[in-house]
Amino acid sequence: MGKGDRKKAADVFRESNFVFSQKVSFEEAFPEIADIKVIVEESGHGVREWNRVRHYGKDIGEYIDCSNPLCYNGGFSLGSILREMVRKRETHREETAICQGYEGSPKGRRRYRDCMNFFRITVDIQYQPNEDYDEDA
Ligand SMILES: [Zn+2]
Repeated sequence: MGKGDRKKAADVFRESNFVFSQKVSFEEAFPEIADIKVIVEESGHGVREWNRVRHYGKDIGEYIDCSNPLCYNGGFSLGSILREMVRKRETHREETAICQGYEGSPKGRRRYRDCMNFFRITVDIQYQPNEDYDEDA
Protein backbone atom coordinates (compact mmCIF):
# COMPACT_ATOMS: atom_id res chain seq x y z
CA MET A 1 0.00 0.00 0.00
CA GLY A 2 1.45 3.33 -1.04
CA LYS A 3 1.75 6.34 1.14
CA GLY A 4 -1.54 8.18 1.31
CA ASP A 5 -1.70 11.38 -0.71
CA ARG A 6 -5.18 12.40 0.37
CA LYS A 7 -5.52 15.78 1.90
CA LYS A 8 -6.29 15.71 5.58
CA ALA A 9 -8.48 18.02 7.59
CA ALA A 10 -5.57 20.34 8.38
CA ASP A 11 -4.71 20.67 4.65
CA VAL A 12 -8.28 21.32 3.61
CA PHE A 13 -8.64 23.81 6.45
CA ARG A 14 -5.43 25.61 5.44
CA GLU A 15 -6.65 25.95 1.88
CA SER A 16 -10.18 26.95 2.70
CA ASN A 17 -11.44 30.51 2.66
CA PHE A 18 -13.11 30.55 6.04
CA VAL A 19 -12.48 33.42 8.39
CA PHE A 20 -10.62 31.15 10.78
CA SER A 21 -8.22 29.98 8.10
CA GLN A 22 -6.17 33.06 8.92
CA LYS A 23 -3.39 31.23 10.65
CA VAL A 24 -2.64 32.58 14.06
CA SER A 25 -0.15 31.25 16.55
CA PHE A 26 -1.36 29.30 19.51
CA GLU A 27 -0.50 32.24 21.80
CA GLU A 28 -2.64 34.59 19.71
CA ALA A 29 -5.55 32.17 19.59
CA PHE A 30 -5.43 31.26 23.29
CA PRO A 31 -3.66 34.02 25.25
CA GLU A 32 -5.23 32.76 28.49
CA ILE A 33 -3.47 29.37 28.27
CA ALA A 34 -0.10 29.20 30.02
CA ASP A 35 0.58 25.58 29.19
CA ILE A 36 -1.22 22.70 27.56
CA LYS A 37 -0.81 18.97 27.19
CA VAL A 38 -2.81 17.02 24.66
CA ILE A 39 -2.72 13.27 24.19
CA VAL A 40 -4.41 11.83 21.12
CA GLU A 41 -4.89 8.09 20.79
CA GLU A 42 -6.11 6.81 17.47
CA SER A 43 -7.30 3.43 16.29
CA GLY A 44 -8.42 2.33 12.85
CA HIS A 45 -7.00 2.09 9.33
CA GLY A 46 -3.44 3.25 8.78
CA VAL A 47 -2.56 3.01 12.44
CA ARG A 48 0.43 0.77 12.77
CA GLU A 49 0.09 -0.08 16.40
CA TRP A 50 -3.42 -0.86 17.53
CA ASN A 51 -3.38 2.54 19.15
CA ARG A 52 -1.30 5.34 17.72
CA VAL A 53 -0.52 7.80 20.51
CA ARG A 54 0.54 11.37 19.83
CA HIS A 55 1.58 13.98 22.36
CA TYR A 56 1.25 17.70 21.77
CA GLY A 57 1.96 20.94 23.57
CA LYS A 58 1.62 24.44 22.21
CA ASP A 59 2.54 23.07 18.77
CA ILE A 60 -1.03 21.91 18.47
CA GLY A 61 -3.11 22.98 15.47
CA GLU A 62 -6.79 23.51 14.79
CA TYR A 63 -7.11 19.97 13.44
CA ILE A 64 -5.61 16.61 14.32
CA ASP A 65 -5.16 14.50 11.21
CA CYS A 66 -6.39 10.99 10.66
CA SER A 67 -3.85 8.25 9.80
CA ASN A 68 -6.00 6.38 7.31
CA PRO A 69 -4.14 6.69 3.96
CA LEU A 70 -7.40 6.40 2.00
CA CYS A 71 -9.20 9.02 3.99
CA TYR A 72 -9.99 12.47 2.56
CA ASN A 73 -10.40 15.51 4.84
CA GLY A 74 -9.75 13.19 7.77
CA GLY A 75 -9.26 14.15 11.36
CA PHE A 76 -11.18 16.15 13.90
CA SER A 77 -11.30 19.70 15.19
CA LEU A 78 -9.29 20.02 18.36
CA GLY A 79 -9.75 23.78 18.24
CA SER A 80 -13.47 23.52 18.94
CA ILE A 81 -12.77 21.36 22.02
CA LEU A 82 -10.16 23.84 23.27
CA ARG A 83 -12.41 26.86 22.71
CA GLU A 84 -15.18 25.24 24.71
CA MET A 85 -12.79 24.30 27.52
CA VAL A 86 -11.41 27.85 27.70
CA ARG A 87 -14.92 29.31 27.73
CA LYS A 88 -15.81 27.10 30.72
CA ARG A 89 -12.35 27.50 32.27
CA GLU A 90 -11.91 23.71 32.34
CA THR A 91 -8.49 22.28 33.18
CA HIS A 92 -9.02 18.63 32.25
CA ARG A 93 -11.15 16.89 29.71
CA GLU A 94 -11.39 13.49 28.09
CA GLU A 95 -13.19 13.35 24.76
CA THR A 96 -13.77 10.93 21.96
CA ALA A 97 -14.14 11.74 18.29
CA ILE A 98 -14.85 9.88 15.09
CA CYS A 99 -12.95 10.96 12.01
CA GLN A 100 -14.88 13.58 10.03
CA GLY A 101 -13.44 12.35 6.71
CA TYR A 102 -14.31 9.70 4.19
CA GLU A 103 -12.54 7.16 2.05
CA GLY A 104 -12.64 8.38 -1.51
CA SER A 105 -10.74 9.09 -4.70
CA PRO A 106 -7.45 10.96 -4.22
CA LYS A 107 -8.97 14.43 -4.77
CA GLY A 108 -12.05 13.62 -2.73
CA ARG A 109 -14.52 13.83 -5.64
CA ARG A 110 -15.77 10.30 -5.24
CA ARG A 111 -16.85 9.12 -1.85
CA TYR A 112 -16.65 5.40 -1.12
CA ARG A 113 -17.50 5.24 2.57
CA ASP A 114 -17.10 7.10 5.83
CA CYS A 115 -13.78 6.77 7.58
CA MET A 116 -14.26 4.95 10.86
CA ASN A 117 -11.04 5.96 12.58
CA PHE A 118 -11.57 6.71 16.22
CA PHE A 119 -9.79 9.14 18.52
CA ARG A 120 -9.50 9.42 22.27
CA ILE A 121 -8.35 12.84 23.38
CA THR A 122 -7.06 13.93 26.77
CA VAL A 123 -6.48 17.65 27.33
CA ASP A 124 -4.86 19.31 30.34
CA ILE A 125 -4.73 23.11 30.45
CA GLN A 126 -2.93 25.46 32.80
CA TYR A 127 -4.27 28.99 32.67
CA GLN A 128 -2.35 32.21 33.00
CA PRO A 129 -2.66 33.74 36.46
CA ASN A 130 -5.41 36.31 36.63
CA GLU A 131 -3.94 39.72 35.94
CA ASP A 132 -7.03 41.87 35.92
CA TYR A 133 -6.24 43.86 39.07
CA ASP A 134 -5.42 47.52 38.57
CA GLU A 135 -1.87 48.35 39.67
CA ASP A 136 -2.42 52.10 39.44
CA ALA A 137 -5.42 52.16 41.78
ZN1 LIG B 1 -10.14 9.38 8.54
